[in-house]
Amino acid sequence: MTTYGTGSRILVTGGAGLVGSHLVDALLAKGCDVTAVDNFSTGSRANLESHERLTVVEADVTEGLPVGDEPFDAVLHFACPASPVDFETLPVEILRVDSVGTLHVLDRALADGARFLMASTSEVYGDPLVHPQPESYWGNVNPIGIRSCYDEAKRFSEAAVAAYHRHKGLDAAIVRIFNTYGPRMRPDDGRVIPNFISQALAGEPLTVYGDGSQTRSLCYVDDLVNGLVLLLESGEYGPVNLGTEYELTVGEMAEVILRLTGSPSKVEYTDRPSDDPERRRPDLTAARTLLGYEPQVHYEAGLKATIDDFAARRAAGELTSA
Ligand code: UDP
Repeated sequence: MTTYGTGSRILVTGGAGLVGSHLVDALLAKGCDVTAVDNFSTGSRANLESHERLTVVEADVTEGLPVGDEPFDAVLHFACPASPVDFETLPVEILRVDSVGTLHVLDRALADGARFLMASTSEVYGDPLVHPQPESYWGNVNPIGIRSCYDEAKRFSEAAVAAYHRHKGLDAAIVRIFNTYGPRMRPDDGRVIPNFISQALAGEPLTVYGDGSQTRSLCYVDDLVNGLVLLLESGEYGPVNLGTEYELTVGEMAEVILRLTGSPSKVEYTDRPSDDPERRRPDLTAARTLLGYEPQVHYEAGLKATIDDFAARRAAGELTSA
């Protein structure tokens, strides 16, 4: 168990993304010196407010880490486009950042003697045949399907972390992140929550793929970040699932967002993408027992905060399209 705070040097790749930027904020609040690396392909500079202990480096981690030689105490690898829309538009970039990029970041952590945290995903379980999903489940992934660039790249990253941990003695941890949402999400991210909120605020139809009976378990970003800090400081290896047990159907998500926004939008049913997982909910036993993790934010409160953020950005003219 190590506490990170004043004087700790922490590197966060993907620091301008949804999770990365909230994680950077939490580490700054603990007193750490943070270096955030991002190539801004899906992350946004606006997600990182300037801070005297924050250094922002624009770089693609697949090409190396231009972050100086001073050692880091912890290296947190969060760089990777993560929306199914990105799986269609950036498949090779995703494969590269979670293979070549992961190896670069692992090498840096090893050289520095830093603790390493790998942002993995519930997608390693694919379209799961076990429900809820414990970390011991090996998954059901289509290796050549439209989601495979992400699923298999994350599985490669987990294998790489396991190898560095087992064979090189790297102090490492793997977290499997389940559907996380919150303020700062891209409106055009393509995932269900930003799509529905953008559509509801614009008075446009909410696009439900399929009949809306598929489920996801929604995690507010603050809960996730609390869990990430617990894992970082715990010294545990994992893998550990982080998320919540608020499992909703996509149809229920549409209803809640229509109610919370008071939008007159209708629901429109369209084709379901292939390999779209049917059900997803984390088994949180390991997170609870190893980390003392307990999510605090009910989805209604989290969605309300996210809607308020989207509405404020719309009012400021920052979000133009639904
Ligand atoms: N989805 C939907 N309408 C949208 C976007 C997504 O019905 O506009 C569905 C999608 O088919 C999936 C679920 O919502 O079943 C969650 O999709 P998302 O892209 O948010 O994340 P992931 O599939 O990676 O969990």
